[in-house]
Amino acid sequence: LLSVKGLHKSFGDLEVLKGIDVEIEKGSVLAIIGPSGSGKTTLLRCLNALEMPNSGTFEFHDGFSLDFDKKLSKKELLTLRRKSGMVFQSYNLFPHKTALENVMEGPVIVQKKNKDQVRQSALNLFEKVGLADKVDLYPHQLSGGQQQRVGIARALAIEPELMLFDEPTSALDPELVGEVLQVIRDLAKEGWTIAIVTHELKFAEQVADQVLFFDGGHIIEQGPPLEILKNPKEQRTKQFLNRIL
Ligand code: ATP
Repeated sequence: LLSVKGLHKSFGDLEVLKGIDVEIEKGSVLAIIGPSGSGKTTLLRCLNALEMPNSGTFEFHDGFSLDFDKKLSKKELLTLRRKSGMVFQSYNLFPHKTALENVMEGPVIVQKKNKDQVRQSALNLFEKVGLADKVDLYPHQLSGGQQQRVGIARALAIEPELMLFDEPTSALDPELVGEVLQVIRDLAKEGWTIAIVTHELKFAEQVADQVLFFDGGHIIEQGPPLEILKNPKEQRTKQFLNRIL
């Protein structure tokens, strides 16, 4: 679906991404793991230009490409953002909108789609995430797990090609983690293309096609989950896994 080449990102003097090359295959799940502060979130946010990369190229396999060495037009940025739906660690729902309004916002306000059609699609998405009876509630009336499932429905509503999940369960109480991971599992089964930053290694092992271990601004190693999680080649990966297992 997407080839990323030579991605660099610095915040002032701090170079967080030091030249990242990554391939995201259509219909696959890529799990990104690594120590805290290593730049996993930054990598994900660069993928839809929520953080603007300093340099690098994106080549979508449909022919759309971006070169971050050049100044991008608004149209290019918009095209990129429509290709990816982002699910945030802290849900980021609008507090004064109902669950349904949150999900309809992108397609209606940004994509200017027909409201009645969007409502119907949104209601289908609420079925998918198991919240058909919660559409009229406000975020504060929902549990963390429910809010995150609304977050997932909202990202799906723009009909992205790629779903980006930034530690989607790390803000949740342990008993609510499972319901959110189950929705992501279902999406993977349906053939969605997913990149997910996660500390849930068991989930990565079961659901991911590729696991990428990231540290110090570089991809240290990448491969099938069993290879990376059970039989890593690199010392840094071994140390990381020993620390968190
Ligand atoms: P965690 O697992 O703790 O969320 P992470 O691997 O996702 O960590 P990032 O959030 O990408 O790491 O942060 C990488 C580094 O970049 C950190 O040192 C962080 O302080 C820095 N950083 C991230 N965003 C910004 C920003 N907007 N401005 C300045 N520095 C930033």
